[in-house]
Amino acid sequence: AQDAREGDGGSGVQHMKWWGWGREGVSFDHRDKPKLQPFVLEKVGVDLDTPGRPALDFDELPVPDSRAPEELLAALRTAAGDGHVHTGAMERVVHTYGKSLRDLLRLRAGDLPRTPDVVVYPGDEDAVRAVVDAVADAGAVLIPFGGGSSISGSLHPRADEQRPVVSLDLGRMNRVLEVDEHSRLARVQAGVLGPDLEDQLGARGWTMGHVPDSFTHSTLGGWIATRSSGAQSDKYGDIADLTRALRVVQPGRVVATRPVPSEATGPSVRDMLIGSEGRLGVITEAWVQVHRLPENRQILGYFYPSFEAGLAAMRDIAASDASTVLTRVSDANETAFSFATGKRSRGVSHLVSSGLKTVLKRRGWDLDAICLSFVGFEGGADAVKANQAVVKKIVKAHGGIVVGKGPGTLYDQKKFDTPYIRDYILDRGALADVSDTAASWSTLLPLYRHVREQADRAFARVGVQGWIMCHLSHSYHGGACLYFTFAFQQVSETPLVEYDVVKGAIQQAFVDAGGTLSHHHAVGTEHAQWLAEDISPAGRAMLGELFAAVDPQGQMNPGAIV
Ligand code: FAD
Repeated sequence: AQDAREGDGGSGVQHMKWWGWGREGVSFDHRDKPKLQPFVLEKVGVDLDTPGRPALDFDELPVPDSRAPEELLAALRTAAGDGHVHTGAMERVVHTYGKSLRDLLRLRAGDLPRTPDVVVYPGDEDAVRAVVDAVADAGAVLIPFGGGSSISGSLHPRADEQRPVVSLDLGRMNRVLEVDEHSRLARVQAGVLGPDLEDQLGARGWTMGHVPDSFTHSTLGGWIATRSSGAQSDKYGDIADLTRALRVVQPGRVVATRPVPSEATGPSVRDMLIGSEGRLGVITEAWVQVHRLPENRQILGYFYPSFEAGLAAMRDIAASDASTVLTRVSDANETAFSFATGKRSRGVSHLVSSGLKTVLKRRGWDLDAICLSFVGFEGGADAVKANQAVVKKIVKAHGGIVVGKGPGTLYDQKKFDTPYIRDYILDRGALADVSDTAASWSTLLPLYRHVREQADRAFARVGVQGWIMCHLSHSYHGGACLYFTFAFQQVSETPLVEYDVVKGAIQQAFVDAGGTLSHHHAVGTEHAQWLAEDISPAGRAMLGELFAAVDPQGQMNPGAIV
């Protein structure tokens, strides 16, 4: 269960630092990675050795006063209990934004036109019902809050919102309520954070296997509300596959679906609620699929001579008899970045520094074009061995080689550290962000090339030296996800202007080339402008009509999605 933290306003629920990713006191440092400083200097023109400019002091933030009327506060206290209603400045700032680059830049610039007026922490579904009804009766606005890791801009109140705004934090609702071992299903409260959920399940020998990069600071309810996907989706599925049933509180009623394996009742209400980003109410609990903890787990590293070869291999692995937990291949730029983040004499970088280099050169490989890949395997020893053999054959057929366990194990151990890099380089004048999409196998390569081209043009348009890198992950029968990371030097006092040009060009390239606006980062406000191109204007209109019918006064997270 979650611990109290200093400055939490007495809620007892732990949150991330108000100005960045993760816990206070935990951060990235480049000094034990000797190749990173020269790499970033060369690619982005930013010197990591220069001292960082920390974010503002909290006291410097122009936090608007709470506008919550006393009657609403009294109703919320009755609903959730006296000690669970907070109006302090830190509480309200922590609940204003998620963790997108835009959110962080706005906070760092003191751009806080509107915060929630009050944060309420109900302890069970009855309390959630009472809070939702109190908000509806008061003509106020309700924004559900899970871990606050959103990167789609779906947590902040609208700047011109005149009604009182209530942030409903699910953090006290963090228990696994029951495990139906026979059906391999668990009933879980929506506010549980990833590690807490896996600890509770693991103690009974089960796992949900949902591991987004934000795992440590995101919740089950947030995953469902954003149609999340985790690194191990090849085996366990996306959250839309994992969520068998859910309960959602709306004003005056509760929508409840049953944990059946499949159904003929359509359109599926369950599917309407998954990805609803708070627009259709508050998810209080869900039945999710669980698996027995695997006997063995191995992530193997592979090299390919080109990204094209790597993509083709991933497609063939997805079509093969091999059962994998994850399949991932980085392009040459992301591979070079991985080599540059290796610690002294550790990491993947040393693998290409010695004998292997000579072998690859002899084979005619261009060492600057090497693409690093990981494939994960779980299960009994025989199954793992058999699956590895199938994959090895495919890798070889595409000109790749097996590198072994070292880099895969390191990737597995370090994957939750990566998000801290963004704050560190932001402190030193570099903007970095991600954009992801999904597309069919035949679309992926032209889409990749189009995005690279459009990003380079956007960098030129704003006059910055930019860097873009990509990996394929989350393979499906018909296609996969492409995940791009981009970075460039901050050149003006209005970095969001440059950011919009670059991020906008990448997003536009996704929909122009036949991809979706995001594979697993939701729509929110950040991606809403591409919704009609993604699902057609009529599809977008249908979503608007659904939200208006369920919530005619626009009180539930208005502004997100449509
Ligand atoms: P929040 O950020 O608190 O909320 C997100 C949205 O869901 C909001 O609209 C909120 O109102 C709504 N919401 C939250 N809880 C509820 C509820 N109980 N009922 C109704 N609505 C609710 N996403 C991935 O899918 N995969 C990744 O690998 C991944 N990696 C990330 C890495 C980083 C560094 C960051 C910053 C983000 C990443 N994300 C990833 C995005 C983000 O973590 C996900 O969208 C996550 O699912 C959000 O969960 P949360 O609990 O933090 O929700």
